Amino acid sequence: MTETNIEMTKPEDSAITSFEDLNIEYKILTALKDMGFEEPSPIQKGAIPLALAGEDIIGQAQTGTGKTAAFGIPIVQSLDEKDRHVQALVMSPTRELCIQVAEEIGKIGRTKRIRVLPVYGGQPIERQIRNLRGGVQVVIGTPGRLLDHLHRGTIKLDHVKFLVLDEADEMLDMGFIEDIETIIKQVPVDRQTMLFSATMPRPILSISKKYMRAPKLVAIHKEIVTAPTIAQYYYETRDKVDGLCRILDTTDDFKMIIFCRTKKGVDELVIALATRGYQAEGLHGDLSQSQRDRVMKKFRQNEVDILVATDVAARGLDIDNITHVVNFDVPQDPESYVHRIGRTGRAGNTGVSITFITPREFRQLKLIERTIKTKIIRGVLPTDENVLERQREQIISKMQSVLEQDNFHDYLPIVEALEKDYEISDIAAAALKFMQEGNKALETPESKSDLPDALSNTGARPGMVRLFINVGRSAKVTIRDIIQTISIEAEIPPRSIGRISMYDKFSFVEVPAESAEKVIGVMHRNTIRGYRVNMEPARARE
Ligand code: AMP
Repeated sequence: MTETNIEMTKPEDSAITSFEDLNIEYKILTALKDMGFEEPSPIQKGAIPLALAGEDIIGQAQTGTGKTAAFGIPIVQSLDEKDRHVQALVMSPTRELCIQVAEEIGKIGRTKRIRVLPVYGGQPIERQIRNLRGGVQVVIGTPGRLLDHLHRGTIKLDHVKFLVLDEADEMLDMGFIEDIETIIKQVPVDRQTMLFSATMPRPILSISKKYMRAPKLVAIHKEIVTAPTIAQYYYETRDKVDGLCRILDTTDDFKMIIFCRTKKGVDELVIALATRGYQAEGLHGDLSQSQRDRVMKKFRQNEVDILVATDVAARGLDIDNITHVVNFDVPQDPESYVHRIGRTGRAGNTGVSITFITPREFRQLKLIERTIKTKIIRGVLPTDENVLERQREQIISKMQSVLEQDNFHDYLPIVEALEKDYEISDIAAAALKFMQEGNKALETPESKSDLPDALSNTGARPGMVRLFINVGRSAKVTIRDIIQTISIEAEIPPRSIGRISMYDKFSFVEVPAESAEKVIGVMHRNTIRGYRVNMEPARARE
């Protein structure tokens, strides 16, 4: 770092505790409240004051830390709402990220009516051109598509005051460096530049040296140690509610605190659990003191065994005998991870911590692991069969009650209709399946998205899984592009990727069986060279 003379700022040393302390204007504070944010995350505490003071910033942070709002809030605050030119340009590596960032900045800028547009490959360019013509103030784009607009003259950057390079190391890995430089050169030099990156390889530092003015580095590392009595697991899934329910269904006698990032998140999860038959109480900053007391009393006295809370609301709570801490949303920094999980495993008791991550949050998890110097074990979610196993006794006792109540006769004509073609025991078992699984019970083997099955018969060599991708030669995508993107996104070595066959409109690629779910998880709906990708297990030829 010394060679670039980057000054280091430590957000944890600052006295900032609330968004109000950051001198954010009232309109934006209202928007943040609507978004359910209770307090700034560490990267926001560090970056926002510097950004508002007009400094160039290098933020060392990845998805999950709140980095988008760290640059989004100062941008929205400093924009001139009446000026319809593009005033802020954000470059992001993937379509998915462009959309996420655009949504987040759109929400922050809602009360100021800021006009935000994501532009990425795979979406018809004409639609983007129409929107750009309508006057957009913040553009978030992938480098490839931005260059396309620049060549066509459909985007003008001469009024840009803020330039953001988001996930710069990923853009570098994806081979966008030249495109990025070409674009930066078209942005007025009299601008504020912010660069966010999880790692700081040399080419990123050299970009910062070339195109930034005395940038300040904001990083959020700290040495922490965790209590060894806590067994720490993580689960990677796109459907966190389903994953959580599977864990609840297969765990006996628990007293659990579940952490969500926002107040909204708490409310939504309490409802989602309630609709699935789990009773949980929510705790966040919007509750009155008497509501809080009521919730805490119920939890302390074991009337409910699940408490869903934000970090702020749970601060200072002292509750004994918590068996499980669940990070429903990945914590924004390692310190908060340690605080959260430290609520279990107290006084010599053992405890379990469970962290849910989406594929994109893998890096944030790895950072936590590195900082706390403890391995967080990858957990495998219980299957339908595991859940059913645990539920068998409960089902039997419920069925006995229904049979004893003897008032199910309205349903007998249905049984009689089915009886002509099926055995009574089959009808009863099918009815139980339907009761337990709902519409999922109607899926045919072909429509079933049960990965392990689908992955076992793809026509790949032993130990590998063959995947179908909907891009091929006609998209001007090369074998190297495919290898590079998969290896970066799924964090697997390029050498582990097996045979690739390319056709005109699609390709097949073989990946190691143990990485297949992850590859599909991170690649499906992602982009390769700007092309939106559908990826699924191939079907073996019969
Ligand atoms: P990011 O790291 O920007 O991808 O943000 C991860 C998630 O955290 C997004 O869903 C944000 O909306 C959310 N988030 C960002 N800042 C805060 C905050 N201060 N409090 C709660 N949630 C936040």
